[in-house]
Amino acid sequence: MSVEAKFWKPLENGEVQCELCPHFCRLKPGKAGICRIRRNINGKLIATGYGETTSIAMDPIEKKPLFHFKPGNYVLSVAPNGCNFHCDWCQNWEISQSKVPTQHLTSDLLVTIALRERAAGIAFTYTEPLIWFEYIIDVAKIGRPKGVSMLAITNGYIEPEPLDELLPHIDAMNIDLKSMNPEAYRKFTGGKLESVLETIKQSAKKTHIEITFLMIPTLNDTEKEIRKLVDFVESVNPKIPLHLSRYYPSYKFNVPPTSPEILINAYNIAKEKLSYVYIGNLPIHDAENTYCPECNNLLIERRGFTSAARGITDDGKCSKCGAKVDFVL
Ligand code: SF4
Repeated sequence: MSVEAKFWKPLENGEVQCELCPHFCRLKPGKAGICRIRRNINGKLIATGYGETTSIAMDPIEKKPLFHFKPGNYVLSVAPNGCNFHCDWCQNWEISQSKVPTQHLTSDLLVTIALRERAAGIAFTYTEPLIWFEYIIDVAKIGRPKGVSMLAITNGYIEPEPLDELLPHIDAMNIDLKSMNPEAYRKFTGGKLESVLETIKQSAKKTHIEITFLMIPTLNDTEKEIRKLVDFVESVNPKIPLHLSRYYPSYKFNVPPTSPEILINAYNIAKEKLSYVYIGNLPIHDAENTYCPECNNLLIERRGFTSAARGITDDGKCSKCGAKVDFVL
């Protein structure tokens, strides 16, 4: 299904310019943008992938990863067929970088499925969901009044104005930060670091956010880069959960997986300044658990994608010292 897109302007000779993300694609008639689902049709920008999903699945919310938002719940995951980045290590490249069959789900039907499955929320995920801008807002208008949370698992590559319009409809985000080096960003993703940092700052003021940093050997795993990352997160809010995730070879990237020692070292560096740090994709005792930043009481114990509340009271406080802890329950 297609609808007219938001955030674009007409140019000369039937061309249009999309203004949703910082690529600002200029599109000749008939052509699609980098994300492949926003296209110039008869001099208008059309969101051709509206509601067309490549996937539909129930996932533990911890898998997104979102550790501080409704822990222990399941969410319904859907994904558009496209992406505005071209990361060489993409784990979902089959659906992000190539055209595959999709299924159309109206916003009503998607919410109905989420309610039927008792999902705590709908996660727009797997590929880059913010290119589904119009669809996400339509789903949110139906789902949120019925108690279904809206979650965006995103690369954060969006312009400030559309983000401002989107944020009131979003309950939680995990934003993928891929490097602290602008050159590496440009070379490996096709995007600009500064725009993603701005998205993080803007989103943190309006909604619950967590950050994922996939540590890739040769690309972003030096101690210097980790310190830069930690300083940035601290400057926004030291209570933002940071997920340091282990890389495995995928798609076009074949350097060996991140060494556990490097991940643990990064974890220890991050813990010096941030309240909530986790290691993902590598089962290490403790590195997935949440501890009270005040008294170190075990708040949530996690194994794989399962979690159990151990030390949180019903009103969101540490059961040992009574400190208010940072969860949306
Ligand atoms: S959303 Fe798609 S079409 Fe629009 S500027 Fe970004 S990549 Fe280009």
